[in-house]
Amino acid sequence: MYNFYPNEDNRLAFYDNLLNEFPFIQAQLIGKSLVGRGLHAFSIGNAENRVLIAAAFHGGEWLTINLALHFLRDLCLCLDCGKPVCGLRLEHRLNKRGITFIPCVNPDGVEIDLSGAESAGRYAPFVRSQIYECDCWQANARGVDINHNFPAGWDALHRREQDMGIYKPSPTRYGGTHPASEPETQAVMDHTEMNRFSRAYALHSQGREIYYDFKEYTPPESPAMSRVLSMASGYKVSKPPLIADGGGFKDWFIERFHQPGFTFEIGRGKNPLPLSDESSEYQRILKALCLTLVI
Ligand SMILES: [Zn+2]
Repeated sequence: MYNFYPNEDNRLAFYDNLLNEFPFIQAQLIGKSLVGRGLHAFSIGNAENRVLIAAAFHGGEWLTINLALHFLRDLCLCLDCGKPVCGLRLEHRLNKRGITFIPCVNPDGVEIDLSGAESAGRYAPFVRSQIYECDCWQANARGVDINHNFPAGWDALHRREQDMGIYKPSPTRYGGTHPASEPETQAVMDHTEMNRFSRAYALHSQGREIYYDFKEYTPPESPAMSRVLSMASGYKVSKPPLIADGGGFKDWFIERFHQPGFTFEIGRGKNPLPLSDESSEYQRILKALCLTLVI
């Protein structure tokens, strides 16, 4: 059921089925990608106190969509008929703390990675000119890396990109001409500003690692929380490589709201991770996902 390639058609069909099966889900269209694909948010549980789980900031990390949707559906089954998740009855927790999911932050990048340059609409010629150099498309349709585009340490990251010879749109790691230049970045920021989530979890791949800090803004409780999440998942608490420090969603969330924000790097191997990793990686991280309702 979750073992599907999360290209747009399959994803929208999954959303339709989910909303039919569980009408209590609050669905919102929070924005559109460059090519016009919808950015969707799905919320369950307490509406006054919510955490955010967002996935697929990077196109070639589409397996994070499957994990997010798998968890969302398991929580819905728990709310609907009391089916335990990981042996836990979480419906009481969900009444205290809700979750909003943004399963696919970068739908154009996912589509390009899964279906090729032709899915990039008017950006197809640009994508075609770049795609031969890479076997994994991470950016959006015009070659801006959404997770280098958030306004947190953007200038320093921009200089590091240039030090690495990245001056222009490319399949990965180009942060744009200015912070929040991309509609996908802006949609996620607007939704987060409006909802004031108490914590945020960004799903990326790969490495089975957890990142929690961002400069002096890191909340005091974040190190202990990351250790608990690490114990539950077996993931290692790490610092991102220098080129991935700043510009990211969790960086912006921490700096802007002074609340705990985390990155989970799911899976291990080479992006894009194969669909066949979905079940085992979900089981590996499930306890840590459940803990987002507790810690
Ligand atoms: Zn990523």
